[in-house]
Amino acid sequence: MKFESLASSSHGNAYIVSDRDTRILLECGISYKQLQKLSGFSLSEFKACIVSHEHKDHAKSVEDLIGRGMEVYMSYGTAQALEVDSASLIESMEQFNVGSFDIVPFATFHDASEPLGFLIKSRADGEVLAFATDTVNLRYKFPGLTILAIEANYDKTCWIVARSFPTRCGTVSPTPTWRSIPCVIICARLIYRSAARSIFYICPMQPAERPNL
Ligand SMILES: [Zn+2]
Repeated sequence: MKFESLASSSHGNAYIVSDRDTRILLECGISYKQLQKLSGFSLSEFKACIVSHEHKDHAKSVEDLIGRGMEVYMSYGTAQALEVDSASLIESMEQFNVGSFDIVPFATFHDASEPLGFLIKSRADGEVLAFATDTVNLRYKFPGLTILAIEANYDKTCWIVARSFPTRCGTVSPTPTWRSIPCVIICARLIYRSAARSIFYICPMQPAERPNL
């Protein structure tokens, strides 16, 4: 499974999740034109787009994508807030499938209407991704995770928390500076699945903003 960032910031978020069979878009918080350009004009190859919540930096192109025939998944609350009536509705803890991906949405904690995070398992390669953004907490355990993509501060304390994530699996606590530092998505690929060998590396999704660790 591959997790790639097209855009990641409060100006717009869009990510690609793919395995050898299926390609999906996670979030569409940039313009349709930008999406086209950044994805190499390959939007027709995406099976679907999944949107976490209604804020524009995550959902800007929803109408354009639906209008062009892409299946776009979101919660009922998100669809209501966006005033979209042709989205595919999903619910927390109700698994759905897109191509070779089994996807379980889970509730996140944000000032939005029914925001969701996603646990995505590839039936093609067995890898499992947890994706959570704009949430002050995660109250879940994600067994068997191989890729973790969470929003985090570029703050040393936060990075230390993130680095020890496998042993603290399920919780990322806001740091005192949580609101004062720009948040970005970081992606961690878990090298060892065993909790006893919980070593992994963190791959910032925006190399230009890589912090000095
Ligand atoms: Zn938001």
